[in-house]
Amino acid sequence: MEWFLIFVSVAVVWLASLCKILHSSFYPNQSPFLNNNAGSIQKKNVLLVIAHPDDESMFFSPTINQLTSRGHNVHILCMSTDGIGDVRKEELYRASAILKLPLQQVTALDHPDFQDGFGKVWNSNKLAKIVEKKIFAHAIDMVYQSLFHNLQVATPHHQSIWKIITFDNYGVSGHCNHRDVHQGVRRFILDTSKRYIEAWELVSSNIVRKYSGPIDIWLSFWSVKGEMHCLVNEHPLRSYAAMSQHLSQWVWFRKLFVSFSSYTYVNTLRKINNGQVL
Ligand SMILES: [Zn+2]
Repeated sequence: MEWFLIFVSVAVVWLASLCKILHSSFYPNQSPFLNNNAGSIQKKNVLLVIAHPDDESMFFSPTINQLTSRGHNVHILCMSTDGIGDVRKEELYRASAILKLPLQQVTALDHPDFQDGFGKVWNSNKLAKIVEKKIFAHAIDMVYQSLFHNLQVATPHHQSIWKIITFDNYGVSGHCNHRDVHQGVRRFILDTSKRYIEAWELVSSNIVRKYSGPIDIWLSFWSVKGEMHCLVNEHPLRSYAAMSQHLSQWVWFRKLFVSFSSYTYVNTLRKINNGQVL
C-alpha cells in the first residue's frame, strides 16, 4: 500500500511538472540568457558544439527550442560521425530539420583524429582550432552574404557567433568524447582574442535528477545561481521526434532515455569562465 501511494504521488508530481512545462510553451518567459548585453532581443548566431550526432536531440533540445522560438540562428558543429559518416550525417540533418535548423547551419565532421569511442582521447588544441575555423568561416560567410545582398552590417560582431554552447567537464554521461569537446571549447575561449564571444556549458546532474523527467524543472529553478540559466523545453514532443530521426540509434533504451531524462525537459547552462586555467 505504501509503495502504491509513493507511486501515485510521483506520478501526480510528474504530470503536474509536465503541465507546467506545456503551460510555459503557451506563456513563454523571456530568459535573460536569450538577451544580448544591451538587454534587447536582437536575433543572434549561436554555435552548439557537440561530439556525436544525436547529442543535440538527447541533451540540448530545450536550449535549441528556446533559441529558435525567438528567432536566433543555432549552428551545430558535430565533431564525429561514429565511423559511419554518411548515415549519421543524414540522421543529424533530419533531426536538425525537426528542430527547425536549416541544413546549411549544420556541420558534421568525419575526422580521423575524432572517432567515436571510449579510450580515444581527442586533442583539445586541435578541437579549439576547428572551433576557431568554424567561427572564422561563419564570419566570412556573413560578410560575403551582406556584400552580395547589399546589406548594411553595423559591426562584424552583429553577424558573428555570439555564444558557444557545449558540454560541461563531466559531459552529462561521463563520455570521454563529451568531456574532450568541453576541453576544446575551453581551450578556444582561453586562447581567442574574440572576447565578445561567450561560452556556456550544459550542467551535468546526478543520476536521480537525470532520470526524474519533467520533475527536475523545480530543482533546476532552485539550483540556478550566479552566471547560470535554466531553459525549459517548450516543445518536448519535438525533441522526441528529433531523436527518432537517428534511426541507427533508435533502440528501446534510448526511447526510454528521451522520455524519462530531465534533459528532454530542461537545460541548465553555466557560463565558462575564460579566466580559468586548464
Ligand atoms: Zn554523445
